[in-house]
Amino acid sequence: MNQPKIPEKLLVVGAGTMGAGIAQVSAQAGLATWLTDVSRDRLDRALDRIRKSLETGVSRAKITADDQARALANLQLGVEWPRGAGVDFVIEAVPERLELKAEIFRALDQAFGPEVRFASNTSSISITQLAATTARAPRFIGMHFFNPVPIMKLVEIIRGLDTSDETAAAAASLAEKLGKTAVVVRDFPGFVANRVLMPLLNEAFFAVMEGVAGPQEIDSIVKLGLHHPMGPLELADFVGLDVCLDVLQVLHRELGDPKYRPCPILVQMVRAGRLGRKTGRGFFTYEG
Ligand code: NAD
Repeated sequence: MNQPKIPEKLLVVGAGTMGAGIAQVSAQAGLATWLTDVSRDRLDRALDRIRKSLETGVSRAKITADDQARALANLQLGVEWPRGAGVDFVIEAVPERLELKAEIFRALDQAFGPEVRFASNTSSISITQLAATTARAPRFIGMHFFNPVPIMKLVEIIRGLDTSDETAAAAASLAEKLGKTAVVVRDFPGFVANRVLMPLLNEAFFAVMEGVAGPQEIDSIVKLGLHHPMGPLELADFVGLDVCLDVLQVLHRELGDPKYRPCPILVQMVRAGRLGRKTGRGFFTYEG
């Protein structure tokens, strides 16, 4: 196999929680980085978050003021894609909706030459299915980063059915260049992280529903007894209960195994708009 060139010019599409984090670590790693979104307002918010995150890095002596300045100089934000700028790798991080992602990949496929590799940061949508919306399935891959991106070390690299060895190697070397550890998996529903995590969270929801113990007690048991840094209910609130429900539904539907059926209390809480931290209320209540 020819060793592919490590990507040097990265376009990140979607400047939300994940896209801003990916663009930040990319700019810090010295890649020319473009971050795009649908409006200037969203880009301004993303830049604000990136600045604050870098500022925190400097105040904690994790990076120097020079590193901060270099990172910001490597970053460009805009609503247009940088055609003709020599982008060699694109990471998509728009909301988790198949039709939206498919539409964006069809447009990216038209806008960029066939040599450019595409990755999706999807948590649960089939990489093979997204790849099929383009004419470059061998150059298409999943790169599943974890939140918060500047802190979390893992990138789960997901090979679609037709992903080439070169693209898998390019994505892994990109992840390493961004200071992450890459672990390559095959394209199966939920990949590995969510397939292992969601049944644990779901079991904690059932334990609450059955009155085995309260959320505080369940979290204490898992933290102190199983040595997890966060309890499952605090973690579910952090991830978002709507996101947990979406992923469990994907696992349940696509693997067809009743062990993935979403707990009724989760469904009810999502219907009530109690989505966890982001709405101020989930299994716990959050001030501010
Ligand atoms: P988010 O809602 O915070 O950000 C998505 C951004 O995409 C928004 O700023 C939105 O304006 C933008 N967007 C929408 N349509 C667009 C378009 N046509 N072109 C460009 N930008 C567009 O979402 P997020 O939490 O960052 O999640 C993004 C992806 O990452 C999803 O697929 C999600 O499943 C995945 N993911 C999320 C997490 C997490 O913990 N949040 C972790 C791993 C993976």
